[in-house]
Amino acid sequence: MEWVKLKAHLLENGSARVEGAPIDAYLGQSTAGPGAGGSGSAFFTRGEGRVRLSIQEDSPIVLLHRGEGVVTLAVDGETVEGTLEKVGLHCPRQAYVTINERCIHRCKYCMVPFQQGRMKTVEELEAHIRAIQNRIDAIAITSGVAANEGEEEKVTLSLVRRIRHLGIPIGVSIYPREETPGLLHVEGVEEVKFNLETATDHLFTRMCPGLDRDLIWRILDRSVTLFGENHVFSNVIIGLGETDSEMETCIEDLADRGVIPVLRPLQPAAAVAHYPRVSAGRLLSLCEREEAILKTAGLEPLEARTMCLACTGCDLTPGRDT
Ligand code: SF4
Repeated sequence: MEWVKLKAHLLENGSARVEGAPIDAYLGQSTAGPGAGGSGSAFFTRGEGRVRLSIQEDSPIVLLHRGEGVVTLAVDGETVEGTLEKVGLHCPRQAYVTINERCIHRCKYCMVPFQQGRMKTVEELEAHIRAIQNRIDAIAITSGVAANEGEEEKVTLSLVRRIRHLGIPIGVSIYPREETPGLLHVEGVEEVKFNLETATDHLFTRMCPGLDRDLIWRILDRSVTLFGENHVFSNVIIGLGETDSEMETCIEDLADRGVIPVLRPLQPAAAVAHYPRVSAGRLLSLCEREEAILKTAGLEPLEARTMCLACTGCDLTPGRDT
């Protein structure tokens, strides 16, 4: 099966069950965002392609581990050979750290507010990053909002100051204030991801009560002037009730401003746990549209050095998967 079709099919299912040798050495855990919690995930790779699969005992997809990370994936009567990648922190080849695993906001698709997550110290996070610095290509920093955006920003800046001398590109994705892009840029952060989350204003009001979508648009515009095209990203979730044409308009609006969208299939959880998973067919057609729109706008996802566009585990990424 062609990689892009296989990956779309795997993302539609989202999970695999393990047979054969244990895969403990290859398991990662999400502590932030809609995929937070759960029993861990593994990263299956074939060639340049990579996909993150949650490990679930009742999954119809089988990951047969033959040892040393060599696996055979059994999906719909077909078998596909590949390997499991070791995880840096959260994902392969990156230290993707979450400063604070709690959140005062109540986005309807997100499990983080329901977790009794921890607030880590900068010393602790620096030690984690240093411990794996020889096997990563990027550092990514994210955080929930424990008290207010200003506090998270302060801790983020302090962590950046402690690790920037390592010479590894740093990406940051936190809930921003007006000043955030400028402050991150001055400290040497290379890339930023500020998430629009939904394709439309109407869905944003419903899904992210109390948050300010206009602020995110302003912050994205400012970020492009500071970090440059191909280094500013924004997650947009597919499957919250938007139409294809609404999603296409959102992709165009982002691309016109020099922002690369990360089209993230919904993982039904929290208040939208009853929503259907996004079909492979829809993922493929939106990815095709995104590829064409980015090409017209002169944007190149392969230029990204950090965070989700460098990882690509959770999404179909034009250029990497197509
Ligand atoms: S694509 Fe992003 S959210 Fe998914 S595993 Fe990679 S870094 Fe994490």
